[in-house]
Amino acid sequence: MPAPANKTPIGAILIRWSRRRNRHLPWRAARDPYRIWVSEIMLQQTRVETVIPYYRSFLYRFPHVKDLARADLQSVLKIWEGLGYYARARNLHRAAKQVVGRADGRLPESASEWEQLPGIGRYAAAAIASLANGERAIALDANARRILARMSAYRREVRDARAEHDLMECFQSARGRSAPGNFFQAMMDLGQLVCLPRRPLCAECPVISRCESRKRGIQNRLPVRAKAARIPHYDVTAAAILRSGKALLARRPEGKILGGMWEFPGGKRERGETLPACLRRELREELGVDVRVREKLIAVKHAFTHFRITLHVFFCDRMRGRPRPIGVAEVRWVGISQLRSYPMGKADRIAAERITGLR
Ligand code: SF4
Repeated sequence: MPAPANKTPIGAILIRWSRRRNRHLPWRAARDPYRIWVSEIMLQQTRVETVIPYYRSFLYRFPHVKDLARADLQSVLKIWEGLGYYARARNLHRAAKQVVGRADGRLPESASEWEQLPGIGRYAAAAIASLANGERAIALDANARRILARMSAYRREVRDARAEHDLMECFQSARGRSAPGNFFQAMMDLGQLVCLPRRPLCAECPVISRCESRKRGIQNRLPVRAKAARIPHYDVTAAAILRSGKALLARRPEGKILGGMWEFPGGKRERGETLPACLRRELREELGVDVRVREKLIAVKHAFTHFRITLHVFFCDRMRGRPRPIGVAEVRWVGISQLRSYPMGKADRIAAERITGLR
């Protein structure tokens, strides 16, 4: 996508347009690499509007990387609760500990250094380094791929290795000599406000005259993506075991989805199993207790990235055995009035709120 000799470079047009839009996003004013890092991690797979309040409360609670490193994981997960993709929070916390432990809080200064930290992939490293350090790194996420594929009418599947190479060239060519951080932000603005995933608002686009797919009328068919696999659904059971104003909670092992979060103990139903049988088996395997399954408290539907679940929560009576952490990280009796202070995934939080409301 080279700029013809008599034309303004695309990067310069986008940056001028982005400045005029003047979006007030709290991380835009940040020059502090730590704040840029936090914002980039939070923005992964998450909408800007959702991130803003989380970003503010996270930095209020952990204003410096040393504050984050000193915090315990549970308080980090609690602040993150509701934002989803909790591995991000766990990795951010681990990375902060590394930065403070190895370099006394000195943050990386290049994309290759950023990429050494837990939870920072190639894209995030390039994005942070271009924003925080002005490095001419190439940050190619779904947003940039979509814009560049449309601008160059690129017909290959945008996530294959060849496309990676081709779109990186497009990125460099579009950026030209523009400041990397400003160009990156302008691309973000274009992707979030105008060149939208489903229906791009081409009439509002500052680079419409340079867009090949628009010229050919194929912008709604791009980018080309391989057909997504069908998303499976699982039934998951959980037990509300209540005793003297307390509920039994389990903490999930850290290497698993929702790792470190608290939940009502239970697990996934196996083929041919009834829900009560599943719950009895799970509690025997995970906590070493036998229970009697009573009436259902609630059923909650929830979608993760690659699967969906229905969480069936039943009241249960403990019949035999003292709960111990066999297949979970920890078990604890928690006062019902304290349930809100324990970090939980969305479905368990809904069940917890229902239990709190019963009192
Ligand atoms: S003209 Fe339309 S398709 Fe092309 S970059 Fe602009 S918004 Fe996207």
